[in-house]
Amino acid sequence: MPSPIVHTTLGYVLYRFVRNRAPENFNPVYLSLPLVLVFAISVSLLPDIDSAAGVLIGDFGKYHNNATHSLLVGVLVAFILAVITRLLVKSGFWFWFVVGLAGYSLHVLMDYFTFGGRGVMLFWPISAERFEAPVKLFYGVRWSESLLNPVHINTLVTELVFVLLIGMVFLVIDKKRTSAGKNTRLSNSLE
Ligand SMILES: [Zn+2]
Repeated sequence: MPSPIVHTTLGYVLYRFVRNRAPENFNPVYLSLPLVLVFAISVSLLPDIDSAAGVLIGDFGKYHNNATHSLLVGVLVAFILAVITRLLVKSGFWFWFVVGLAGYSLHVLMDYFTFGGRGVMLFWPISAERFEAPVKLFYGVRWSESLLNPVHINTLVTELVFVLLIGMVFLVIDKKRTSAGKNTRLSNSLE
């Protein structure tokens, strides 16, 4: 499974894709953080909540990567989150549902594309079969090893490279948008 670094980054990517599709009236900003950003990152991390019980007994991996790592459970979770968020902000059920489902599914799929796991129960509870991608994208966290184990240097380096690449893509996009905006303002002022 990738570390929270990858899942948080993908939550941000999701936010960048959907933020302009959120009508302003249901994108309030709390503590200078847009709700859509908080929602997208939270839901992208949510499947790993199953490690919380293991933390209590000092064994991170004990209950990890079971029922919460299912695309079907993601549909149910996205529905519940959409209902709650719709009640809080008074609109946008389908928007919250789609963002919730996308964030949750991205997490499950990234775990599916990671080395060193025992696979992911993509379709639980219909099937308890575990699936593993033939091609891997991430080195991942070894839940049986301590976080300070040297094996996690690979994890950290590959994930930081991933974050850097994503960051560079958004820098280029933002730079292009800024210069396009400047050109539009310039041509407007010349007319
Ligand atoms: Zn996970």
